[in-house]
Amino acid sequence: MNRLIAGRELTALRTVLDCSTTATTLRQGPTALPGTDPAWFAFLCPAHSEDLPAWPAAVSHADDGLSLPCGTVLDYRPTEQLLQSHADLWLTSLTGVEPPALNGAWFGVLDQAYQVLHARAETSVGGEGEMLQSVVTAMSMARRNAAEGNLFQAAYNLAMCETLVQRL
Ligand SMILES: [Zn+2]
Repeated sequence: MNRLIAGRELTALRTVLDCSTTATTLRQGPTALPGTDPAWFAFLCPAHSEDLPAWPAAVSHADDGLSLPCGTVLDYRPTEQLLQSHADLWLTSLTGVEPPALNGAWFGVLDQAYQVLHARAETSVGGEGEMLQSVVTAMSMARRNAAEGNLFQAAYNLAMCETLVQRL
């Protein structure tokens, strides 16, 4: 098995760019502790190899043989960090809702985000309105999973939202 995925538990498979080109460059995220594995790997095409300033401390490498579309991120971070990363990258800028100060308050955030997006989808027309409806649908699942205490599943739903938001 490829060294990137062997023996590690992937917590999220994300698409953070709307690009269908096969990636040729691999960037790796920071390590939590020296000598440990990176928190994430991002796959990028030549045109986008410098296009993810919000993904910090990345180091470029040649692609390691995985054939994945540009914008794919293999994310190994624990659920709370995944949720925080969604807030930092797109959720807060899109909805104005700030992430919780304390762990475990994610239902309130996702509920507010859902209300904001729902209201915006109701007043949007055409392609943007349809795309927002799709985001609202995925966000409603994230909200419900958070209400049931399943933050891992909520993070999965947020990754769907993240992919859709690229096309807004
Ligand atoms: Zn690309």
